[in-house]
Amino acid sequence: MNKPNILLIYTGGTIGMIKDPETGVLRSFEFDNLLVKIPELKLLDCIIETTSFDERLDSSNMNPKYWIQIAEIIEKNYPSFDGFVVLHGSDTMSYSASALSFMLEDLAKPVIFTGSQLPIGDLRTDAKENLITSIQIASLQKDNKPIIKEVGLYFEYKLYRGNRTTKINAEHFEAFTSLNYPDLAESGVHLKINYPYLLKPDTTKNLVVHKELDTNIVLVKLFPGISKSLLQNIFSTQNLKGVILETYGAGNCTTEDWFITLLKETIIKGIHIINVTQCSGGSVTMGEYETSIQLKKIGVISGKDITTEAAVTKLMYLLCKNYSSKDFKTVFETALRGEMSQN
Ligand code: ASP
Repeated sequence: MNKPNILLIYTGGTIGMIKDPETGVLRSFEFDNLLVKIPELKLLDCIIETTSFDERLDSSNMNPKYWIQIAEIIEKNYPSFDGFVVLHGSDTMSYSASALSFMLEDLAKPVIFTGSQLPIGDLRTDAKENLITSIQIASLQKDNKPIIKEVGLYFEYKLYRGNRTTKINAEHFEAFTSLNYPDLAESGVHLKINYPYLLKPDTTKNLVVHKELDTNIVLVKLFPGISKSLLQNIFSTQNLKGVILETYGAGNCTTEDWFITLLKETIIKGIHIINVTQCSGGSVTMGEYETSIQLKKIGVISGKDITTEAAVTKLMYLLCKNYSSKDFKTVFETALRGEMSQN
């Protein structure tokens, strides 16, 4: 049986840094030296090749231009590799994993994002476990076919669906969570795969890579006392096409007249408004409370239980598809890559 071929794509982040023994300064190390730095990788039952961004990024500098670059690397190498592991800073990893999930339509191979809280050269690093298990997960096969066929995010013993994750801790090794969807796998003494929760794409279809993303969007988090003039200014931004509105609880907001009127006028102008909850877990259910009935009536789109990260990237992706307002609402409210519950 042939060993699976895995491509490691190094974009940057703490994981790929090493402390200079003399100066103590953290710097990126040459990824070609990976096998030398982590001899354990030789023990894995797969063939590993590596590629790296020319300039390694702190993921705070990540943006759609780089998402396209990652997508293009995967597209180019798709026929010759069985799986992909993307090494990425943890800060914006959930955004990138979400974006890639939308950009890679009919993906039938694993794309596993991982990183670490401590550099790989650090004595107490979490990088080795994250990297080694991510590669093992990307190599998992049954009847010569990959078991994971979606974009995942592996961190601290858990594999999550990438577009369901959020970074919740800047310090703990357990930096991510997926409150609205179960873990896809858990690494303990055994690697336990939660088969019923894996995406089951139609593998007879070919991978389609979408390389257009529209960044004419805004993310607005409501807070008690938010002013009319502030929102008026934001909503009249030139070329604005979509708004992610982070509301309270199950999708509730103030019922003040000026607020509802402003949203209504904005929607009439052709700007899509998506209702996403500020809560880390749970779902928007417009119409449950009086404070969300109006939103439903004026045509606000329900983000259901989507994360803000997935909502932002889904909006960027869908804005390039030229849907009518009605279709846009229907498509946004439909799970395209398992990013929201379908009810
Ligand atoms: N600031 C770093 C980054 O996101 C943190 C990390 O790698 O975890 O690139």
